[in-house]
Amino acid sequence: KIAICWFRRDLRLADNPALCVALDHGVPVLPIFIDDQGQDGQPQQGGASNVWLHNSLAALHKDLNESLVLFKGTPRAVFEQLKAEFELVAVHWNRMYEPEAIARDKALKQWFADDDVEAHSHNGSLLFEPWTIEKKDGGPYKVFTPFYKKGCLNAEPPRAPLKAPQQINAYEGKIDGAASLDELNLLPTRDWGKSIVEGWDISEAGARARWDDFAENGLFNYKEGRDLPGKPFVSRLSPYLHFGQISPHQLWAALDHYSQDRNVEHFRSELGWREFSYYLLYHFPTLPKENFQPQFEGFTWAKDELRVKRWQQGKTGIPIVDAGMRELWTTGYMHNRVRMIVASYLTKNLRQDWRDGLAWFEDTLFDADLASNSASWQWVAGTGADAAPYFRVFNPVLQGEKFDPEGEYIRTHVAELRDVPKSYLFAPWEAPKEMREKYGLDGTKYPEPMVDLKKSRQDALAAYDAHKNAR
Ligand code: FAD
Repeated sequence: KIAICWFRRDLRLADNPALCVALDHGVPVLPIFIDDQGQDGQPQQGGASNVWLHNSLAALHKDLNESLVLFKGTPRAVFEQLKAEFELVAVHWNRMYEPEAIARDKALKQWFADDDVEAHSHNGSLLFEPWTIEKKDGGPYKVFTPFYKKGCLNAEPPRAPLKAPQQINAYEGKIDGAASLDELNLLPTRDWGKSIVEGWDISEAGARARWDDFAENGLFNYKEGRDLPGKPFVSRLSPYLHFGQISPHQLWAALDHYSQDRNVEHFRSELGWREFSYYLLYHFPTLPKENFQPQFEGFTWAKDELRVKRWQQGKTGIPIVDAGMRELWTTGYMHNRVRMIVASYLTKNLRQDWRDGLAWFEDTLFDADLASNSASWQWVAGTGADAAPYFRVFNPVLQGEKFDPEGEYIRTHVAELRDVPKSYLFAPWEAPKEMREKYGLDGTKYPEPMVDLKKSRQDALAAYDAHKNAR
């Protein structure tokens, strides 16, 4: 007799409802993880996400006293096999909200019900279940502020986080069909997989240490500091939240320990944006694929693979954009302010489809998250819910000057510009000829801008107007 705890996006022991309830059955618990990417309609994760997952599973296995059992295949096949081998007292998991995951889990629940196996899903990843927040007329919110203030903050408060179990009575026998971590083949063949993990402690303890560090050094500078990519005033907790090494409930409750000032409230509201993204994905499952605002249907993006490639490589000739794209490639992370700048540059100045940007982020971000990524790309592109209007085009030179005033961020990530004086750092093409030659700003070391910022902005606005008038 066993109970199963199926780990998915909840790779932690503390505040894990599925694990706690599975342990309550009083029989050995079999903790499992199933890699079903690309199987039965499940999506394939990006490269960076798989690197994170590999390291997370290794850490979780250790935290579970080496009792985590891994499988590769469809959950249905895995459970069929386990059912043949054991008497399953119950199966527990914490919910996921991507449309394909919802469909998979629903079908599994039905299958378990038909076979008289108890199967329960729990809430481990969201403060507010998406179906519990609705407008007065019963429809879903489409704008953040009323969603958060009227919906979430007036709803039943999030539950208190659960303690990590003191003891785990795990099943210790051999399991047929189990895979080793290496057999999951999550790591890329290129060296990149080794270098991007530097600086990250990918484990539940690492998540807690990240929070402690942020609470001490970043939280009380958060409201203004969160816009400065060169400063350590953001939490960098997003990949841990995505994979569930820390839960939003733990953070929400930890914030109660601080006097409620505007920094703390602002951090809470950013957790609210995460909730809003999941809420939108749940109520509008086409969010990752289709323009949220239907009036953008038929809008022509200037499809140009070379432009996308240079953007990916951080070789656009716009320093703050290149710094962001290189931060992403080398660390698996990009600061939020810079995500907005590079996304605006791609969708407006380069007029490339937001879905191209989304796909690159999905492949290279450690925190790649279908909900937040889709909602955010559509927000910046102007096509999304509660979006900045399309005609709001970030000026990357002014953004750099304002939010990276000393150029720390640019110099950290763009080696070619390290010695360039501040007065030319944000728009190096404006430097006098001799300066351009001295620092290789004429294209010999650092590229000249791919497009003229002013003209490309006008072109984007003209394309938008033409589309509007044609409708
Ligand atoms: P902090 O500022 O410390 O915020 C704490 C937490 O709040 C974050 O970890 C995150 O979970 C949540 N949060 C903060 N801002 C947002 C936001 N705007 N939307 C949703 N949640 C938020 N975030 C992802 O987690 N995954 C993505 O794939 C992703 N793609 C993005 C793409 C674009 C184009 C843009 C503009 C933003 C994207 N974001 C994404 C949102 C945001 O940039 C990141 O959540 C944030 O930068 C993560 O860094 P942090 O943990 O230091 O954030």
